[in-house]
Amino acid sequence: MYNRIFLYFCTPIYVVYYMSEVRNYIRLPLRSLEKGKHTFDFSVDTGFFSEFQNPEIIEGAVEISLDVEKFSYFMNVVLTFSGTLTVTCDRCLEDIDIPVEDEYLLSVRFGDAPEEPETESPNEDVIYVNAEDEEIDLAVYVYESICLALPIQRVHGDDDNGNSLCNPVMLKYIINN
Ligand SMILES: [Zn+2]
Repeated sequence: MYNRIFLYFCTPIYVVYYMSEVRNYIRLPLRSLEKGKHTFDFSVDTGFFSEFQNPEIIEGAVEISLDVEKFSYFMNVVLTFSGTLTVTCDRCLEDIDIPVEDEYLLSVRFGDAPEEPETESPNEDVIYVNAEDEEIDLAVYVYESICLALPIQRVHGDDDNGNSLCNPVMLKYIINN
């Protein structure tokens, strides 16, 4: 089921491979879901992120909310999340906790994807699913959305006196070399 869903993302095919590895973290009922509005809440932790084998993410704890509105031929999913990812500081190489928080709109359309993808608004992702499927697995979508919230530069900030909060031993070592 997931193969059909996720092939239409603008992401490399290897994502499909990962999907079979990802345990059932973020699944929405599809066929049985009544029309109208529904909210689904999830929490993911380090185990979720380690499924994707991304060495950049050391730890993670993120609260996720999916606000779904189902119509006859499509459904809108508003993904909001808030939490913390632990990554490596670009400067001192120690762990650094980065808050992540954002909101995305996913349009889930029922049926086959068009041969020529329509031009979509840049803030909206579109996937095509079979409305008769029991469930829709959004683990990859959620994972990628959370990763996008990470800043490109990840460094410890400064304290009130303007001194870097990076590990001083490491900084000294880096400066002296
Ligand atoms: Zn640092």
